[in-house]
Amino acid sequence: MFRKKDFKIKIGPFNYEVKFVDKIPNDGDKPINGGSIQSLLAIRIRDKSPSEFQDFVIVHEIIHAMLINSGLAYRMSKKDILTTEDVASALDIHLYTLLKDHKVDFTKTTKGIKK
Ligand SMILES: [Zn+2]
Repeated sequence: MFRKKDFKIKIGPFNYEVKFVDKIPNDGDKPINGGSIQSLLAIRIRDKSPSEFQDFVIVHEIIHAMLINSGLAYRMSKKDILTTEDVASALDIHLYTLLKDHKVDFTKTTKGIKK
């Protein structure tokens, strides 16, 4: 679904850099598999995970980026009903399965994405 090396993907108006790394920023005692950092327009994915799971984590982090860029993340933190993690965790498996089952290939969509 995604490249297994660093690449860029357009999320809303922004070109995010997806990098495969040994350690995720803000990784604490409990290892995490990915992270979305809006201020850097960056997504980081643990490079040791199986590639199918990496694709799933990339979809999860894309949802986080969408929630932040849409302003929903800010509103959700004010209302304290659902967290962005609740929403990303609810939607990630559905979106991942949809994209996988329909063989969406992000490695071939580079139009409008800065190298
Ligand atoms: Zn998350």
